[in-house]
Amino acid sequence: MFYEEWKKKRDALPYEIDGIVVSINNNDIFDKLGIVGKSPRGAIALKFPLIEAVTIVEDIKVQVGRTGAITPVAILKPVEVNGVIITRATLHNEKEIERLGLKIGDTVVVGRAGDVVPEVVKVFPELRTGKEKRFKMPETCPSCNTKIIKKEKDVIWRCPNSNCFARKSKYFNHFIGRSAFNLEGLGPKIVEKLLDQGLVTDPSDLFDLKTGDIAPLERFGEKSAENIIQSIQKRKKLSFPRFIYALGIRNIGIKTALDLSHYFKSIEEIKRASLNDLKNIKDIGPIVAQSIFEWFKEEDNIKFIDKLKEKGIVYETKEKTGKLKGLKFVVTGTLISMSREIIKEKIEALGGEVLQTISKNIDYLIVGENPGFKYDKAKELNIKILKEKEFLKML
Ligand SMILES: [Zn+2]
Repeated sequence: MFYEEWKKKRDALPYEIDGIVVSINNNDIFDKLGIVGKSPRGAIALKFPLIEAVTIVEDIKVQVGRTGAITPVAILKPVEVNGVIITRATLHNEKEIERLGLKIGDTVVVGRAGDVVPEVVKVFPELRTGKEKRFKMPETCPSCNTKIIKKEKDVIWRCPNSNCFARKSKYFNHFIGRSAFNLEGLGPKIVEKLLDQGLVTDPSDLFDLKTGDIAPLERFGEKSAENIIQSIQKRKKLSFPRFIYALGIRNIGIKTALDLSHYFKSIEEIKRASLNDLKNIKDIGPIVAQSIFEWFKEEDNIKFIDKLKEKGIVYETKEKTGKLKGLKFVVTGTLISMSREIIKEKIEALGGEVLQTISKNIDYLIVGENPGFKYDKAKELNIKILKEKEFLKML
């Protein structure tokens, strides 16, 4: 009990502890129990599982991620951290290796907090033998040999080849993942085989697979192959945020996909959005806006979306009905007849939407008393302006 309690409190302590000592509270008994070797029988040390451990970096390799990011990874002499044997630790990027001053062969501290990927926390240069080697970033992608590139401000190197096998298989795994198309029954191993055999070149091809295509792949009987095909076919319909997330746009997680699905009604609308439109969306920062904008500028990506449509993939946006269906409003100034909350509810009940910022995607600006700068901006963008009374007539 006491042990469990302190194990939980451990992270909150301003100092580090590696366990507790349980000791008998009665000095007489403690003395009577005596000492074995160097340790008294009346006390026992209970160690917590390690969240950090010392080991050796045997090698540094690079791996290629879904978006082509090349990440250096430390190959470790196996060591137990927090109850799990770990053999790899992420080094994030070249700059991080520099910052740590890490060389291959170095003795290091690796740390692992919860389920997070382990990382190198500290290097002991004083333990070097002279045999350590400096790590050099490769010039080409370890998977496809294309020359890797890095933007000036970026710290991450990338493989620019969208046909790179490593990028492809990583992207396939993203696409079939639980938060994307959720294609149960397919996994990384099958994906690699499908790619190896040339049965698929991009994830839209998964929807063309026939039982006979995958049955010969290792361990599949006719029946289970058929089940997989059927479950793939069942996933042709999915929600809009899932669809956005499944595209694998750099920096777009589930949360951002959801934000985008609130703001846009279709993929075409996102595609049409200007960089400024995207930046103006609440919760979307400039880096994310840039990622989205660039993704839709690439012809291959547009082709991929078209291909998905041809294969019969449909995403469902929340269909709204009502006389304000699909219209976007912004409110500025003080309203006399009702509060902002009520107006929002009314508009939404009629299928419309109330947003915070003015952009050219907005249909109407409702103007109350003492309007703010939104009024000027709306005029600038030629957005229809409604006085409160005019708006009430619309309802
Ligand atoms: Zn590559």
